[in-house]
Amino acid sequence: ALSRRTQRARSAAVSVPAVSASDRLSAKPYDVLVVGAGFAGSVMAERLAEDAGKRVLVIDRRPHIAGNAYDELDAAGVMIHRYGPHIFHTNSDDVFAYLSRFTAWRPYEHRVLAEAKGKRVPMPINRTTLEQLYDIALPDDESAAAFLAARALPRDPIVTSEDVVVNAVGTDLYQTFFRGYTRKQWGLDPSELDKTVTSRVPTRTDRDDRYFQDRHQAMPRDGYTAMFARMLDHPRITLRTGTEFVDVDAAALADHVVYTGPIDEYFDYRYGRLPYRSLTFRHETLPQESFQDAAVVNFPAEDVPYTRITEYKKLTGQSHPTTSISYEYPTDEGDPYYPIPRPDNQALFQKYDALARATQNVTFVGRLANYRYYNMDQVVGQALATYRRLSERELVEVAK
Ligand code: FAD
Ligand code: UDP
Repeated sequence: ALSRRTQRARSAAVSVPAVSASDRLSAKPYDVLVVGAGFAGSVMAERLAEDAGKRVLVIDRRPHIAGNAYDELDAAGVMIHRYGPHIFHTNSDDVFAYLSRFTAWRPYEHRVLAEAKGKRVPMPINRTTLEQLYDIALPDDESAAAFLAARALPRDPIVTSEDVVVNAVGTDLYQTFFRGYTRKQWGLDPSELDKTVTSRVPTRTDRDDRYFQDRHQAMPRDGYTAMFARMLDHPRITLRTGTEFVDVDAAALADHVVYTGPIDEYFDYRYGRLPYRSLTFRHETLPQESFQDAAVVNFPAEDVPYTRITEYKKLTGQSHPTTSISYEYPTDEGDPYYPIPRPDNQALFQKYDALARATQNVTFVGRLANYRYYNMDQVVGQALATYRRLSERELVEVAK
């Protein structure tokens, strides 16, 4: 027997041809049902409503908008990120300009310390990191490069997350900063993960201690949730939080679905479950103004159960007599936060993606629907591009 979800997915997928703009006699209350109010769903909803004049219903199973970027005031009145630290950075002028319609920004460049050998040193590895860790003087960038070159163990080809780091810095720095952190974060050895995972973190020989080097680096001035509220505040957008996709009659609501949840869930795990890594957050408020010297401190040692501690005031710039922090404990149980980049997982995703491509009138967008380790700006860019493609294909008729 087919589950309710599959039955509805099928009827949503096959029954109704795309509606033309002139066909305003449609009995359906909406033109598009958007599943998920994170970046993917909210950008799609905003474009469809504002640019294409569509009537959009946005649902999310959580009791709030903003997806994993959700922020809120905690009981003490400190702004925290419920699902862990979210730092906005992008090289895309388009993405930055688009989001700037919905928020002002607070300039913010992210800096991270890592605790190793009893010290707290800059992460990513840079010249200062090497000097502090090994108690040496490296008078210029060239001497830092020579220090690393003397330890690097060239690997060819570079395939795994172990290869990337060992090839760049050798085994001691690899073990100090990457091996334990990665084993905790992913439940896998770096040798079992694609190179794309640790490639996110560069190695530097200068003193640049910023985590990112993107052209635009900033935090939404009033927070992410406020930015999402402005995106979704549109006369043609209806929002229903606390609502599961399986509990709505998609085919009766709209002719088109934009789905931003896990792709394997959409297809009832037909080929088995795609693995996602999750986190448990331990949030605490402390009766002191400041807790640590950086917004984020990483703990790469394998015998420390958490990976990092975030102090939110240092991201948001909020002044408050107390401070709120969160510890991240990686786990397999819980909300799907991270797709796990490995060849076998990618192969399984390809099977779901083939189903998705064959599904009419459903568009799959975002980190979970595409099983990609996307940053926020990449999801916004993907959603804007997807909207443009949809409008070009005239599934969406731009009402202008
Ligand atoms: P999500 O934000 O996951 O939104 C999907 C929404 O769909 C969810 O709200 C979910 O409840 C809803 N949903 C799913 N299935 C259903 C269903 N069946 N019915 C109803 N609703 C459903 N990116 C950065 O750029 N910088 C960072 O610093 C950063 N830090 C991160 C830290 C952590 C701990 C994590 C987990 C991610 C981080 N990211 C960061 C990535 C960022 O969170 C994602 O790129 C972005 O939020 C993805 O947006 P999305 O809309 O694709 O997915
Ligand atoms: N990483 C690590 N040590 C660190 C920081 C990162 O080993 O101090 C590895 C780890 O595998 C991590 C990946 O690099 O999952 C990507 O790090 P990033 O900070 O981008 O992770 P995210 O913020 O997405 O959780």
